[in-house]
Amino acid sequence: MIKLFMKYYSAVRMKNQLIIPQNLSEIIKEELIMDWIDLHVHSSASDGTLSPSEVTRLAFQTGLRAYALTDHDTISGIDEAVKAADGCKLEVIAGIELSCPYREKEIHILGLYIDSQCEELKEALSSLRAQRRERNEALLLHFNRDGFPITKEDLIGDGDAGVITRAHFARALLKKGCVSSMDQAFRSYLDQGKKYYLPKKTIPPREAVRLIRRAGGFPALAHPLQYKLGWKMTEELILSLKEQGLAGVEAYYSSHTLNDCLRLRDICRRHGLLPTGGSDFHGDNKPDIKLGRGRGRLYVPISLLEDIKMHLREEVIYDNQCQPEN
Ligand SMILES: [Zn+2]
Repeated sequence: MIKLFMKYYSAVRMKNQLIIPQNLSEIIKEELIMDWIDLHVHSSASDGTLSPSEVTRLAFQTGLRAYALTDHDTISGIDEAVKAADGCKLEVIAGIELSCPYREKEIHILGLYIDSQCEELKEALSSLRAQRRERNEALLLHFNRDGFPITKEDLIGDGDAGVITRAHFARALLKKGCVSSMDQAFRSYLDQGKKYYLPKKTIPPREAVRLIRRAGGFPALAHPLQYKLGWKMTEELILSLKEQGLAGVEAYYSSHTLNDCLRLRDICRRHGLLPTGGSDFHGDNKPDIKLGRGRGRLYVPISLLEDIKMHLREEVIYDNQCQPEN
């Protein structure tokens, strides 16, 4: 598998530099270039800038074979995203991204292939969104008291903004000329430890994993290196989450080096977890990250998805699934 991965990875690097070797047959070239996916994508239903149908169109144009819409705390974009893929050779996977506390940090857990009709999940998400709204109101008040001229309308913007996140505050601050970039808004005001960082309500990792499984989904730890725990503690985190039902780890990610990816794949292999991969695309809110391609070197092979599907087929534990109680 590692060998195959290396083959894929190096082929893409070659593709970036437009030096695909002549001796690769057309069929292999086609396979290498076409069969790729993105399992971590945001739309305007949370903090992305493209609507769910625009994301689907872009995924199709980009040549992705599948992508997962994993908005924060909401599944409201999924129907639109799936509908836009009607008749296309593109699989749109219903997903979610949940925030959880872990040792003074916030970690994220992705759910793939969730049943968007699962009542228990829907209830939990609506409670998280209600608490997020309270956080946002307090944060807006805090900014206004200090003289920042941002309004609720600035936060909502043109879209329907199902979930308002810190990215919406950053964009509003940029629009009102209070900062020179989204990045500066985070670094100066909104990042953890800054004056306007107000934590939102999160759910314990165990509960996030349970909810995802209850909705028939595949729970995976998102961007494991973003928490800056170091390799030893990252592996400890992964192990403790595994004991709580985690099934995968996002080994392929926009900011991961090849070595990061290989090390994470090795951790997965040693602990019986499956690697997942995605860009964390947010449209113009993270303009350096392209759908499916991350910062240009990301390439998530479709074989990961096949393994995840097989895992879900094998792991159908009826007690855990979202079914009406008898
Ligand atoms: Zn994300």
